[in-house]
Amino acid sequence: MAPQAPEGQAPEGQGRRDFARLSDDDLATCVHCGLCLDACPTFRVTGLETESPRGRIYLMTQWKRGTLPFDEEQVKHIDLCLGCRTCEGVCPSGVPYGRIIEAGRADVEDRRRPSPKRAASRIALRQLVGHPGRLRAAGMATRAAQRLGLTSVFRSGRMLPKLRRPFRRPGDDVAPAPGRARYRVAFLTGCVMPILYPESHVAAVRLLQLAGCDVWFPAGERCCGALFAHNGDLAGAERLREANMRVYDAGTFDALVVDSAGCGAHLKDFYPGLKGRVKDLTEWLAEVGLPKAESELNLRVTYQDACHLAHAQRIKKQPRDLIRSIGGVELKEMRHPDICCGAAGLYSTLEPRMSNRILQEKLDDVIATGADVVTVANPGCQMQLEAGLRARGSSMRVEHIAETLLRAY
Ligand code: SF4
Ligand code: SF4
Repeated sequence: MAPQAPEGQAPEGQGRRDFARLSDDDLATCVHCGLCLDACPTFRVTGLETESPRGRIYLMTQWKRGTLPFDEEQVKHIDLCLGCRTCEGVCPSGVPYGRIIEAGRADVEDRRRPSPKRAASRIALRQLVGHPGRLRAAGMATRAAQRLGLTSVFRSGRMLPKLRRPFRRPGDDVAPAPGRARYRVAFLTGCVMPILYPESHVAAVRLLQLAGCDVWFPAGERCCGALFAHNGDLAGAERLREANMRVYDAGTFDALVVDSAGCGAHLKDFYPGLKGRVKDLTEWLAEVGLPKAESELNLRVTYQDACHLAHAQRIKKQPRDLIRSIGGVELKEMRHPDICCGAAGLYSTLEPRMSNRILQEKLDDVIATGADVVTVANPGCQMQLEAGLRARGSSMRVEHIAETLLRAY
């Protein structure tokens, strides 16, 4: 029997096998019409066909057929894809771009010698992100380093929000609804979000309780695996899925509610055992309803569509309806609210130059709205926009949509 690879680590050749399994039909769905080009953030800033969805699909098709040799120069075009799936949302031919790029990345990661930065991020994923205890310890160490002013030396350290006490689940793993519960929902605590943005979870849980939900925090739940899949480690993602499904299968719940768009999209795509039961927070709240808000606010809000909410989950209306339902809130739309901000998981660390070019276009758009608050639905967008606005000296606040909605209660 072949030895098993360590947890979260792809067995040798796994990426190539994942790519080989990618169906030719998926690739052939692209009819090269080019309608996705203007929606693709990397094409928008470079104008290069090689940095477009069509160009990348062409490249991966040739690799799969063996008609183009695999070389490091070409790999760059796959690396520069944000995986934002904006192309998928606008493609009239229904190209499953998310599935294609994940398989393409698994192949790339299997074949190339990674740069030191990519190797380090892979180690961080396997050794930290998949292990809640180690991640929590790393969060505490980073918090201490922030207090000593040590993190500002590194770009990635400057990107981080000021860390507070991490989110803590209730002792008995349930936050009950006030009064008689209408629903019992499971809540995805996730990997980095409880450390980076605990206040988003606190607000999300409070809203769920207000909506009449008992909120269950499944003990033993791990990272959903989204960051692994997006970075070419499908084997690592599969192992986390198996571990999580054992936990979910042991409980009963009406929905698994997720307040991070990237995790929600991954759970919907990659966990067939949860089919129909994964709900983004805004999707669920729009479905079950919130009680009428008590306060009238005086707030101008602009909403940044998270790529994995707007394009991967096709959820655009619900967050806007919820924001508009708060008295005294004016929703000031950007010109291009559904174009990526350049965060894209680890992308801003791995491809900082392209990430920053995309971010600058986004910041112009955000600032032009004159809003008081930028509301987001994903921690990566929050961190990217906060860092960008801070660098421009803007006082605009960035917050999770749960925090914006909770202001009214
Ligand atoms: S991905 Fe879709 S929109 Fe883009 S070129 Fe192919 S078929 Fe056209
Ligand atoms: S996922 Fe985003 S960056 Fe990648 S090709 Fe599609 S639109 Fe462009």
